[in-house]
Amino acid sequence: MVRTSRELARRMEEHGQKTYPEECCGILLGSTDGDETVILDVVEIDNLQEDNRRRRFLITPKQYLQAERAASERNLQLLGFYHSHPDHPAIPSEFDREHALPWFTYIVLSVACGEAKVMTAWFLSESRDRFNETPLSIETTRPVKIEEERGSGR
Ligand SMILES: [Zn+2]
Repeated sequence: MVRTSRELARRMEEHGQKTYPEECCGILLGSTDGDETVILDVVEIDNLQEDNRRRRFLITPKQYLQAERAASERNLQLLGFYHSHPDHPAIPSEFDREHALPWFTYIVLSVACGEAKVMTAWFLSESRDRFNETPLSIETTRPVKIEEERGSGR
């Protein structure tokens, strides 16, 4: 299960609409504990893929380092990445699978004719041979860190 807020979902949708018909991509930050992942912030990154920006997003090693830094500055974990599929279903592509890592959360957002439509969440299987969809809960109140929600004695 991946949880986030309506506000953060809207920020990803607006990003996807802004970059349409090209893909947008960004970083997911938050906290995670076993089966539960809570997205507490999202950060936009530039799509540096040169040849086919409509279909492929690519995170460079430099952007990966920036993502790690953004997470530590906010005292959050780097959970994974989101990107849009302009005029394409919200299902990870073969290219996405080949470039994904098993411990990250991937959010895919379909943008049809410039309008954000469907948002889905995925994890890569341990063997990296397929993506498994996981429920995405978009909540009206802003989720808090899992540690804080469980009240670790404070
Ligand atoms: Zn994709």
